[in-house]
Amino acid sequence: MTTIRIGHLYPDYLNIYADRGNMAVLTWRAAQRGHSVEVTAIEPGDAIAATRFDLLYVGGGQDREQALIAPDMASKAAGLRAAVEDGAAVLGVCGGYQLLGRFYRDRAGAELPGCGLLPLHTVAGERRMIGDVLLECELELGDQRTLAGFESHAGRTYLDEGAEPLGRVVHGFGNDGESGCEGCRAGRAIGTYLHGPLLPRNPWLADWLLSQALAHRLGGDLPQLEPLEDELEAQAHAVSAGRARDRGGRMAGRRPR
Ligand code: GLN
Repeated sequence: MTTIRIGHLYPDYLNIYADRGNMAVLTWRAAQRGHSVEVTAIEPGDAIAATRFDLLYVGGGQDREQALIAPDMASKAAGLRAAVEDGAAVLGVCGGYQLLGRFYRDRAGAELPGCGLLPLHTVAGERRMIGDVLLECELELGDQRTLAGFESHAGRTYLDEGAEPLGRVVHGFGNDGESGCEGCRAGRAIGTYLHGPLLPRNPWLADWLLSQALAHRLGGDLPQLEPLEDELEAQAHAVSAGRARDRGGRMAGRRPR
């Protein structure tokens, strides 16, 4: 049995749309394979030691909460970069995803600093992009998958030239409602706008993250995790994908004059 060490950044500030549920899924799926998970909350002022964590997680939040923690997240840039260089995996959702980039200019026009781990920046628009989303992605060459979830964000995220998106938008808005791209992937670090929470309806991504984390913990090649039944998860994915097909990609808020 191996203990996978997860660092959960700002659990009391960045945790909307049940994002905490992602931790429960990682813990349960690891246990089904005989591994345990130790989740440590990382709060403002805490340092991040390069080799301490196998997986770092940060959830979503409203502009107000992001503004409260952004300077601290920026101050953790060196620690986060060292952890990723050491081979730790990262998952950032929505507001957390935005602060994995260089900055988020919020609806009030304030530029909230990010930690610059992902090659992107975000600027809030007038209207929120809300709804169910369906993506096509290929984290491993030749292994095409779909991701289904829910998005709600004012931010428009722009990837740097040459940066790799997490997936192609089939239904929904994604990063900016125009590029047809969603999220960003840099090695073992992933950012996405998909809430829901994300992992219960996309168990393959949970297993991908667990494999990356185990490879960091144990060294060596990516371990193959024994498949689980995932019947309920498949149903949840299908329902979410169906909703995205039926009504993904609608704008909210005031219609511009
Ligand atoms: N506050 C950010 C935005 O509106 C992120 C929202 C979120 O995490 N759902 O874009």
